[in-house]
Amino acid sequence: MLNKVEEIRKSALQACGQAGSVRELEEARVRFLGKKGELTLLLRSTGQLPAEERPRFGKLVNQLRDELETAWEQREQQLFLEEEERRLAAEALDVTLPGRPAVRGGVHPITRIIEETKAIFMNMSYEIVEGPEVELDYYNFEALNIPPDHPARDMQDTFFFNEQLLLRSQTSPVQIRVMENRQPPLRILAPGKVYRADSDITHSPMFHQIEGLVVDRGITFADLKGTLQLFARRMFGPDTKIRLRPSYFPFTEPSAEVDVSCIMCAGKGCRVCKDSGWLEILGSGMVDPRVLQGVGYDPREVSGFAFGMGVERIAMLKYGVNDIRLFFENDVRFLKQLGRQGGLVC
Ligand SMILES: [Zn+2]
Repeated sequence: MLNKVEEIRKSALQACGQAGSVRELEEARVRFLGKKGELTLLLRSTGQLPAEERPRFGKLVNQLRDELETAWEQREQQLFLEEEERRLAAEALDVTLPGRPAVRGGVHPITRIIEETKAIFMNMSYEIVEGPEVELDYYNFEALNIPPDHPARDMQDTFFFNEQLLLRSQTSPVQIRVMENRQPPLRILAPGKVYRADSDITHSPMFHQIEGLVVDRGITFADLKGTLQLFARRMFGPDTKIRLRPSYFPFTEPSAEVDVSCIMCAGKGCRVCKDSGWLEILGSGMVDPRVLQGVGYDPREVSGFAFGMGVERIAMLKYGVNDIRLFFENDVRFLKQLGRQGGLVC
């Protein structure tokens, strides 16, 4: 019987030491110390012993019970700590890791040029106005001094819906719509989309124009030149020069093409300006008296100037982009690259 006690002791302590979890430990406890456990059964067998051996045997078994209970308690404590440590390690957060950067959208380069131009002219008290993209032939052509058989209509390949209705080929009709409804003084800027049947690396069927118009008493060509000079300096840098060349537009007289000193070579001559030192950026002129008359203004009382520029052309020059189609392909790599050259008003 004594051997039996020692046997149980060994195997119980071994099972206790080998239990890898609190659950396994509990299973082992039931096996040895439970109601039907090996040690309990051993204690019950005391009755089979001779009477004189019973007290000693009982004492031994009770000692073993105490020893095993202590061993179990210690092992349980140990396992509990281990499990806690494993759990904490698994749930650990490294608060020093950098966070995932949020992907931020940016302002499209075309929008940016429009916003910057608006800001420059709003500083000069211009009002921003808009007009419809689906326009009447009257506003797109006739009221701008371009009657049906006028050769100037061939300058623009217009998308017609029918004889009366078209996609506007310029932002100039906005001038007429505003002048029809208001009296001078007027100082307006009309940005927007325009459409022409033309597509290559410098032309897109849809592109953006910004049109400016000033009408008041005593407006002269000098006002036009001063305004455009100021715009060019703010848009391209303080050292930018402008040059006006005589030109022709049906709704202005006299008319001028406006060049800025090349922003790539500062006028020395390079590939972008084709060694001329100048870049053409917009068309302008004094509003033709016939246009003023057409909206009911008296050309003897008031005069005005107008100018119009292609936004994509300015963006291409400013950002050094050589294919207009890049602006509309939505290639995020291209847009991001221009986005980094930020710092513009928006
Ligand atoms: Zn140049």
